[in-house]
Amino acid sequence: MNSVMCGLLNISLILLICGIPVSQGFSYDKTGEWGNESPICNGKSQSPINIDFNDKNALKQDMVSLQWNGYENIPDVMIGANNGHTIKVIPKWLDTAKRPYLSGGPLDSQYVLQEFHFHWGADNSVGSEHTVNGKSFVLELHMVHWKLDYGSFSAAVAAPDGLAVVGSFYDVNNTVSKPSSGVNNIINIALILMKKGEEVDITPFPLSNFDAVNTPEVIATYKGSLTTPGCNEAVTWMVVIHGHPISNNHMETLRNVQLDNGENHNYRPVQPLNGRKVSFFH
Ligand SMILES: [Zn+2]
Repeated sequence: MNSVMCGLLNISLILLICGIPVSQGFSYDKTGEWGNESPICNGKSQSPINIDFNDKNALKQDMVSLQWNGYENIPDVMIGANNGHTIKVIPKWLDTAKRPYLSGGPLDSQYVLQEFHFHWGADNSVGSEHTVNGKSFVLELHMVHWKLDYGSFSAAVAAPDGLAVVGSFYDVNNTVSKPSSGVNNIINIALILMKKGEEVDITPFPLSNFDAVNTPEVIATYKGSLTTPGCNEAVTWMVVIHGHPISNNHMETLRNVQLDNGENHNYRPVQPLNGRKVSFFH
C-alpha cells in the first residue's frame, strides 16, 4: 500500500491497512492497569515525565538547532477523528516531498509528520501530560513524527529510535485579546469532533499555525515512550518549555469533547525517570 493510496482511504481503512495501531479499550481512571494488557507500560523508559528545569541546567551548546522543514505546506487532506481517547488529526500530502519533517536537534535523521492530537484535564489545575518543575499546563499538543529511514509509521513504532514527538503546552490566559491561529484551529477541530467515533474531513491548514513550530523557546529532550497503550519505548521527546496562551472559554469547549467512559480528562500521570537524562537546547 503506497502512501498516495493510503491518503485516499477513509480513516478506518487507513488504520487497518496502513498498520497504524488501533487504540484498545483503556481508561484514564485506571492508568495503573495498562501494564496488564500492554506490559511495556510498566517499562523503565516511560512517558510522560516531570521536567526539572532551573538555572543549573546548562543548555547543550554542542547540539545543532532543530530544523522545522515544510510546516508551511498546506495538506491536501486532513482527516479528524474522535477515537474516545483524544481528538486526532491525520494530515496527508499527495506529493510526499511536501510532508513536513524535523531534522537536527537531538535527531540523527529526518522524521516526517504522521498526526497530531491533544491531552487535557477536568479543570485548569491539570491537563498536560508532561509537567515542568511539578507544574501542569491545561493542554498539551503532541505532533507525532516517524523516522523516514524505516519506510513506514508501523515499522518505525517498533524501533527504539523510530518516533519523534513534539510536546507543546497551553496555559489559561484570558488577557490575550486575539487567539493565535493555532488556537483557532484547535477549537474548530474540537467543535466538529465533539462526538465519540466521529470522523470528518477538516479544512486543511498549515501546521506552521501551531505556536510551537519554529519556536525560539527552550526545548527539553529525553528518550521515552508513547503515553497510551502499547506504551512503545520508541520516542525521542522534544517538549517546548513554554505555555502558549488559550482562554478559559476555549478550554471549556475542549472539555465538552465526548470521551470513553464519560471521562473528561485524557492525560497519563508522570512516570519515574529511572536515571534517564534530560537535555535542554534552543
Ligand atoms: Zn499524546
